[in-house]
Amino acid sequence: MRTAVLRFALMAHDRVGRKRFTSEKSERFSESVIREMTRQAMLYDAINLAQGFPDFAAPQELKHAAQQAIAADLNQYAITWGAKNLRDAIAHRMSVAQGLQVDPETEITVCCGSTEAMIASLMAVTNARDEIVIFEPFYENYGPDAILSGARPRFVKLHPPADPDGEWTFDEQELRAAFCGRTKAIIVNTPNNPTGKVFSRAELELIRDLCVKHNALAITDEIYEHILYDGAEHVSMARIEGMRERTITINGLSKTYSVTGWRVGWAVAPASLSGAIRKVHDFLTVGAAAPLQEAGVAALASPQGYYRRLAEDYRARRDRLLPTLREVGFRAFLPRGAYYIMTDIGSFGFADDASFASHLVRDIGVAVVPGSSFYSNPADGAHQVRFAFCKRSSTLDKAATRLMKLRAAPPQAQG
Ligand code: GLN
Repeated sequence: MRTAVLRFALMAHDRVGRKRFTSEKSERFSESVIREMTRQAMLYDAINLAQGFPDFAAPQELKHAAQQAIAADLNQYAITWGAKNLRDAIAHRMSVAQGLQVDPETEITVCCGSTEAMIASLMAVTNARDEIVIFEPFYENYGPDAILSGARPRFVKLHPPADPDGEWTFDEQELRAAFCGRTKAIIVNTPNNPTGKVFSRAELELIRDLCVKHNALAITDEIYEHILYDGAEHVSMARIEGMRERTITINGLSKTYSVTGWRVGWAVAPASLSGAIRKVHDFLTVGAAAPLQEAGVAALASPQGYYRRLAEDYRARRDRLLPTLREVGFRAFLPRGAYYIMTDIGSFGFADDASFASHLVRDIGVAVVPGSSFYSNPADGAHQVRFAFCKRSSTLDKAATRLMKLRAAPPQAQG
């Protein structure tokens, strides 16, 4: 027999129509489209050029170091803000690669991937109503990151070049106008996902001037630091005069050592900021996987030749995919760094990026990321899709064969 209590159904909305059980914050963003495209690639047995993870092996020494760490019973929590030897290795690596001296005792927080490093940093430095300047197109996570941390994003456009071999640029006046008294920080991702832009020293200096003028921080995502082409140079924001004290540098093992699933990243910031980041990180996740931190020490000790070869292998992959894309009708923008190619799909005559990406994954057998997922206003990316080329040459060859069908057979399902 039903009791009176049971007759009250779960009410999903309150009297004024608000969702009762899902938070307002969670309602303001959707699932990651990048990760959804990976699921679609599996569903349709398509080649995954959507989510940026390598399909080739990680370095043997790294895997061996992880296996040894587990065998040696490094199976319990590491120090919350990162195992000491990993923090020492990160500090050493930063001094070799960028000439930056950081104190591993007070300035480094190891997190569960650079993804956690970013959200922990934002939660550590922003208050409600603070503004965060973000270049767009932007890596998908930054939008929800801003919402979750309570900050308000202010977007500044990166404009594609007129010549697809040229540089993506931003308008200085637009950037100046985006900074105001409420600006807490700017997020700079260089080398950039999804555009492949590598910010020049002059651009970073302009950003520095605005950060200093408005007493704001720079949070720089430098996860593609070593993936550079055609002589492009990566300059860490913390190296720019006057920025060491106001920069949070985010990086990790994922892209440089081809271990995106290990989830080991870090945030490097002056001690006072790191103190706040460490507290947030501690209560969010406690710590990153201990044996994989140990393997990270081996990774960071890689010889200089490793980084040269990494960049050279990626250049070969870029130069394999880019001409195919152009040949079949994409306007493909040449990346200077990172492992993505942003494209304009105007010549295919589809109504938008989502219908085109859906055609690609179902009918052509290649998964890509619809451009709209990199913009606050989806219409701005409605004629773009992003390809990831962090794949074996055999995978890229197979994708190229499939993409050729695009040229031979114009789409049936237009619109
Ligand atoms: N950075 C990668 C991309 O943009 C993967 C992101 C992720 O899924 N964590 O595709």
